[in-house]
Amino acid sequence: MKRSKAAGAKDAGAASPRKAAGSAGASRKAAARPARPESRLALVRRARRINRELAEVYPYAHPELDFENSFQLLVATVLSAQTTDLRVNQTTPALFAAYPTPEDMAAADPEALEQLIRPTGFFRAKAKSLLGLSAALRDRFGGEVPGRLEDLVTLPGVGRKTANVVLGNAFGVPGLTVDTHFGRLVRRWKWTGEEDPEKVEAQIAALFPKSEWTMLSHRIIFHGRRVCHARKPACGACPIAPLCPSYGEGETDPDKAKKLLKYELGGQPGQRLRPPADYPGRPAAPLGATAAAEATSAAEVTAPADATSPAGVGE
Ligand code: SF4
Repeated sequence: MKRSKAAGAKDAGAASPRKAAGSAGASRKAAARPARPESRLALVRRARRINRELAEVYPYAHPELDFENSFQLLVATVLSAQTTDLRVNQTTPALFAAYPTPEDMAAADPEALEQLIRPTGFFRAKAKSLLGLSAALRDRFGGEVPGRLEDLVTLPGVGRKTANVVLGNAFGVPGLTVDTHFGRLVRRWKWTGEEDPEKVEAQIAALFPKSEWTMLSHRIIFHGRRVCHARKPACGACPIAPLCPSYGEGETDPDKAKKLLKYELGGQPGQRLRPPADYPGRPAAPLGATAAAEATSAAEVTAPADATSPAGVGE
């Protein structure tokens, strides 16, 4: 089952319509009955089943930012606000070559730093955050990225979302990444009705064991980027349609829905220039390589989880 689904994930359009068709039948049945509120137990079971299904569809789910150490992941995550991971990945090779350590970045000429990160947008505010967090790492943490949430959130431009990304992926500490995709999908699935990222995080954390948090975040974000888009969810090609109370919010025609799939599910390059070995898609192209490759994910922008942050940067 695992292998065939994994292979099927490359061609979700082949596997999904069967499930989506089942979903349409289920929707009709549901419409015939008066709606009953879902019990807590039923919600937990459905949520965990969605997680298991997503694990089979995306066995290769991973962070889509290129990084080699915790400092690079921290910087890349700060840069990812209001732009695509692809754009960040195309920008960071030159940035990390110029400033490989917090000490190097803290001593950077602000204008030179701004120019290097300019393609990620909001470059003045982001440069300020990078200079501030690098100086803080140098002065308060011995040039190392701290492995505790309470320390990470004291760094300029770093909120809970960025801290959880770093903890989960550089330190192996379980964390939920409540970004724009995560929030949208868990609300569509009626796992929560909250809008505030911290409340969303707390409610979803209560549905799953801690050990699942980091991979659950990757799977949800993968699904949001590939299938369950903000404006046009591909319901007719969605492998979890039978479990989704929002089935029908997007395109239900299987053929039309299949055309909406993105990245490896849509036969397009992924976001990483250096994806993991088990990634079934193609790597992204470097900055300026081809306009088409760069445009692949231009519509999928990761908005900050915390809109109260200055200039929307970092969190
Ligand atoms: S809204 Fe549509 S695309 Fe999103 S999870 Fe539900 S069925 Fe799938």
